[in-house]
Amino acid sequence: MTPTPNLSCFGPGMPKPKSRDRNILGGKGAGLVDMTELSLPVPPGFTLTTAVCANWDKSRQLSPEIQSAVRRAMSQMGKAMGREFNGKEEPLLVSVRSGARVSMPGMMDTVLNLGLSPEKVETLAEVTGNPRFAWDSYRRFIAMFGDVVLGLCTADHSPFEDILEKEKERAKVNLDHQLNAAALRRVAQSSRNWIKQKTGHPFPDDPWEQLWAAIAAVFDSWGNPRAAAYRRLNGIPDDWGTAVNIQAMVFGNLGEDSGTGVGFTRNPATGAKGMYGEFLMNAQGEDVVAGTRTPHPLEEMQADSPETYAELTKISKDLENAFRDMQDFEFTIERGRLFMLQTRVGKRTGTAAVRIATDMVREKRIKSEEALLRIDPEGLVQLLGPVFKGSSKEEAMAQGRYLARGLPAGPGAAAGRIVFKAEDAVEEAQKGPVILVREETSPEDILGMAASVGILTSRGGMTSHAALVARQMGKVCVAGCGEAAVDVARGTLQASGKKLTKGDWLSIDGTSGEVLEGRLPTQDSEVVQVVTGKRKQSKNGDDARFRTVMAWADKARHMRVRANADLPEQAKNAIAFGAEGIGLCRTEHMFFGEKELPAVQRMILADSPEDRHKALLKVLPFQRRDFLGLFKAMGSRPVTIRTLDPPLHEFLPADPKGIKALAKSLALPTSSVKQRIAALHEANPMLGFRGCRLTYLFPEILDIQVRAILEAAVAAQEKGIRVQPEIMIPLIGHQKELTPHVDRVHLIAKEIKKRTKKSVRYQVGTMIEIPRAALTAENIARDAEFFSFGTNDLTQTALGVSRDDSGSFLPKYVEEGIYPADPFASLDQEGVGRLLAWAVDEGRKTRPDLKVGVCGEHGGDPSSIDFFHRVGLDYISCSPFRIPVARLAAAQAALTHD
Ligand code: PEP
Ligand code: MG
Repeated sequence: MTPTPNLSCFGPGMPKPKSRDRNILGGKGAGLVDMTELSLPVPPGFTLTTAVCANWDKSRQLSPEIQSAVRRAMSQMGKAMGREFNGKEEPLLVSVRSGARVSMPGMMDTVLNLGLSPEKVETLAEVTGNPRFAWDSYRRFIAMFGDVVLGLCTADHSPFEDILEKEKERAKVNLDHQLNAAALRRVAQSSRNWIKQKTGHPFPDDPWEQLWAAIAAVFDSWGNPRAAAYRRLNGIPDDWGTAVNIQAMVFGNLGEDSGTGVGFTRNPATGAKGMYGEFLMNAQGEDVVAGTRTPHPLEEMQADSPETYAELTKISKDLENAFRDMQDFEFTIERGRLFMLQTRVGKRTGTAAVRIATDMVREKRIKSEEALLRIDPEGLVQLLGPVFKGSSKEEAMAQGRYLARGLPAGPGAAAGRIVFKAEDAVEEAQKGPVILVREETSPEDILGMAASVGILTSRGGMTSHAALVARQMGKVCVAGCGEAAVDVARGTLQASGKKLTKGDWLSIDGTSGEVLEGRLPTQDSEVVQVVTGKRKQSKNGDDARFRTVMAWADKARHMRVRANADLPEQAKNAIAFGAEGIGLCRTEHMFFGEKELPAVQRMILADSPEDRHKALLKVLPFQRRDFLGLFKAMGSRPVTIRTLDPPLHEFLPADPKGIKALAKSLALPTSSVKQRIAALHEANPMLGFRGCRLTYLFPEILDIQVRAILEAAVAAQEKGIRVQPEIMIPLIGHQKELTPHVDRVHLIAKEIKKRTKKSVRYQVGTMIEIPRAALTAENIARDAEFFSFGTNDLTQTALGVSRDDSGSFLPKYVEEGIYPADPFASLDQEGVGRLLAWAVDEGRKTRPDLKVGVCGEHGGDPSSIDFFHRVGLDYISCSPFRIPVARLAAAQAALTHD
């Protein structure tokens, strides 16, 4: 096996690349190699691979061999460019950029224009004939180096910006590019002075010293808190590391015939075909993505630079033909000459992902299987996300509540209370929906963005940080809303002559870009309306594409997908979303109705089995009615009904007023109700008197519930429905707990059969929620015809972590990487997963045809679904709205592993 290279080159005039592997070169490095091979105009450079980063943490040094390879590559780059790094002639300037395997936009650091000193600025000014450009490049370099390498800036404050602002005040100008060469020279000089004063060391003038320091800083930036937070949110392993790309600088800020931009081969928000993007003339790349100036749509380039536009259009097509996927690229025009700086698979909204995938199959670029693997299942949530209700937006407009319009950067509708700071977003989001309002966002804001329902920025374009990150997170976003004046320091948003402050309600439409005052009601998306029969199907709208993708997914997957649903209405929704059965009906949810609750309370407070039975007879008709409703909704699909599970005190009032009222309604003395409630009190109710323990001690409850289920089944059968009830006993830990339950179910079934002269197909099974049950699954399966993993409780019991009050430490555990993700959301595969896999194998030893599924929250989580597929589950069950996600994730698991 050839060893992993430490350094690999790209671009014309450079040695052949040593690798094309993005795991080694990082996404950016691999893209540059690919573009070189397509003969696209790429400035020459080289990549220090992720293998170097892996060793970096240990030594924080480049070995002498790597250092000399860097020196060699720098000299080859100089030759290829006709410039020289640290020479006397025209200086070679380079960029030093991070590049992980997967894109982490803006999370890690970059240094541009490296290789300058006051002396070399003069040479650069001379050879370009543009002193303004030369000093502007230098002052930018000092600021970036001061920030990234010397760590002199904070999230909210850059001393170099202060110096620049002062100079603008002095020159009485508003914009950076209005400063002349002399002013920029002063900015550079002041920045150097400030650094010396602050650090006690002069700013380095030796380009090699600059280069080694910048490489170190970029490798280090893999570990910075914002990159770590991004990895956590996106499930990227910490040990991947980043590559570092060192590339000859080309300049978009050499004058009005120079510029820079970002493009997509298709529209990343809607998925529509055709090149899409933005550019700025006389600017460097950072100006476009940082959102400090609002860029122009690419089509506007056609008028002034038709040739460049035509070349770019051709490149956009070439990229898509080569990569067979939507690409996101960066380019620079230096004095009319186009250079490609980067290409990568473009991030897209869920809506765009579905459209691009279906279009590319139709264009015969890819097969449906590949298309399925390209759609992030979580992204489907966007297609199912809300829009403003009916004509509420038009009405709000008519009432004069329109505030402003910005760029439609993240589709969907959102209403929330205004917050201006990321930390406030995190805090206030616990009380209700918030919209984060900023001039622009920066990578430090991502946790705040994640906590918000929507994001509004007053500056920046469709490719600004806010726009990119919001789309990826599936957040509603309006960006570059210049009509709104945002003052974060004062906490105000002003637009259309109105002033809003923190806590005021705001509504934003990320599909059209409108911003409105107040709280507009939101409602189901078009897809949801079609799916639920509230709207007619379209031929080639989002709903048609959604159906296509779902049909492909259903063909590819092996696992069945069921829904957790308790009410007929939910069951109908679940079927509309593609549910093939009910995996969990929590019967207790049927107990909270106005009429049902008193009967249930009477049953709980009964003193003797006879009294309990009497009270239960009142519950029976309600339960029978509800089960019949479910059977009718589900037809011949299987319906798993769980017998009573929660601790009984959950049905009783806790406050003195409620207790008094209950006593009155039951005609009991308040003191005896109080006493009974006190007796039911438990210190740790989730591990106490609940689940099968209730029905073991009070079998009358089981009797009534089983009677209700089977009598409803008989009634449904009489209506011609071939019902398939599955009776499920929760919280079993020992086979000896289960046996009497199963016996009792069969006994009641026999009695009903005798009484009604009708037989019903049914099964009895159990939930696996207690480690002991998982470990002894071979025995449990003697009585259980099916297993359903209750991974919520199994996680709680296996980890010894309460699902109700782990907030005080679990987030920290996840942050520190003890668990890669919240184990209650994404299965702890190493621990809980092991119990699960063991239980499946042991259970099937006893009963080879044992049906096994999962009904905990993990049933709707893509990475958990991948695991469930691998251990051979028959089905997953999740909430109705996550069913499309689960169908796609199950298909991806089958396509990946089989
Ligand atoms: C579970 O524990 O995973 C489960 C589905 O049951 P519940 O959430 O109702 O305890
Ligand atoms: Mg449970």
